Amino acid sequence: MRLLVDDHGMNWEPAWNITTRTMGYTNHTLLPEALETWPLPLFRRLLPRHLEIILEINRRFLAAVQEHFPKDQDRVQRMSLIDERGEKRVRMANLACVGSHAVNGVAQIHSDLLKQTVLRDFAEMEPDKFTNVTNGVSPRRFLLLANPGLAALITEVVGDKWPEDLNRLRELETKCDDADFCERWRQVKRANKRALAAYAQHAHGIELLPDTMFDVQVKRIHEYKRQHLNVLHAVALYRHLKRGGDAPARTIIFGGKAAPGYRTAKLIIKLIHGVAEVVNADRETNDRLRIAFLPDLNVKNAQRIYPAADLSEQISTAGMEASGTGNMKFAMNGALTIGTLDGANVEIREEVGAENFFLFGLTVAEIQQRLAQGYRPWDIYQQNPELREALGLIAAGDFSRGDPSLFAPIVRSLLEKDPFLLCADFQSYLDCQARVGQVYRKKKEWTRMSMLNTARIGKFSSDRAIREYCEHIWKVSPVKVSLRQL
Ligand SMILES: *Cc1c(COP(=O)(O)O)cnc(C)c1O
Repeated sequence: MRLLVDDHGMNWEPAWNITTRTMGYTNHTLLPEALETWPLPLFRRLLPRHLEIILEINRRFLAAVQEHFPKDQDRVQRMSLIDERGEKRVRMANLACVGSHAVNGVAQIHSDLLKQTVLRDFAEMEPDKFTNVTNGVSPRRFLLLANPGLAALITEVVGDKWPEDLNRLRELETKCDDADFCERWRQVKRANKRALAAYAQHAHGIELLPDTMFDVQVKRIHEYKRQHLNVLHAVALYRHLKRGGDAPARTIIFGGKAAPGYRTAKLIIKLIHGVAEVVNADRETNDRLRIAFLPDLNVKNAQRIYPAADLSEQISTAGMEASGTGNMKFAMNGALTIGTLDGANVEIREEVGAENFFLFGLTVAEIQQRLAQGYRPWDIYQQNPELREALGLIAAGDFSRGDPSLFAPIVRSLLEKDPFLLCADFQSYLDCQARVGQVYRKKKEWTRMSMLNTARIGKFSSDRAIREYCEHIWKVSPVKVSLRQL
């Protein structure tokens, strides 16, 4: 608007028309820290002309709101581009909504929640603006390049067109009861696990045992992603083995960075290392349970990890993960998912089949119910002996060389507020992990499920996602490009 009006001398109406027809707003998270608001005085000092234009956009927009919803001053205040409670602030998400012809979330559940929560008033005023475009990942990068062994095996069955037409993977279904092919499928996974083990040893001096189940959670460290729920399971499994319990051998692999100022996330990394130190040194159990934290997670390193995973951990609190894309990369490479009904997990489960997905945890609706009734994590802790034992050991300093103060902030947060409902989902997660262990022992069944995950993951190609942006939001159509010109 500033360029069109000031530098190109356009009148307001045609400039606004071009602006709104050009802009689209893709929301990537519902977390409050991502919905930016900027203090008005700061804005005025740095971008005085932009603020002037924003206030004019707001004046015209609020007039339209009043016309659409007469005598609803609360609504006008909520939809205003300026938050006038306390120090005035510019609401960037509201501005993006008003200035765009299309607004979308990045998975169906996330797009639905957008309309029900943070952008509810906007969706009620202009329902046709709102759409969904479920994310996708590049099959060239995350299958063809990252997993050449599996790519070659796939090409044998479905031909070499699958990287540009990922639904062709469906033809793999014809092979899921072919014993020889299933054995080769397992051999590729084993080779990828050995390759990751060799890298971990060479680059970081970390020993991974390739004959164990690789149970992997790699993603940014955040409380809503619940790496600490995974840790609670690790401690419970450790205690189960110490009591003489049975379970297939596992290596629980973590990776991910914390934001520099996010203290709790850094403490979760410390907790993973604290538990790993004790578990990995215990000669009574360390042939059956190991914990590894792979440092320096970036896309290049992640490309070694996804192809080596047996189990994909997608365990965020329902309603918190907008989409996730790691979930797609794992399933594409034949990992089975243990996950909640969150983000694109919902659609992955629909595609691969509920019988090929390990589901646990409360739904968004159940969480809303529990919170409305007054959620009391302490009561769950009191009544669940395994949770009491796992949290108790952490609180007592067993994983911090006897220092009970180190992890006290995590323990206290879980017992007092537990904003991400780890306690509520703990038993369901443990039960589901036990089912994972049982199925992992049935090699044929596991391989069949693995192959069906890859076969049915076609929807999650970035090609499909980009095509939807082209057709429904950008309104652009493909052009033929001669390779000679390139
Ligand atoms: C895909 C990817 C992510 C996103 O992972 P989620 O599990 O969806 O959070 C994060 N980091 C790296 C390096 C990735 O490759």
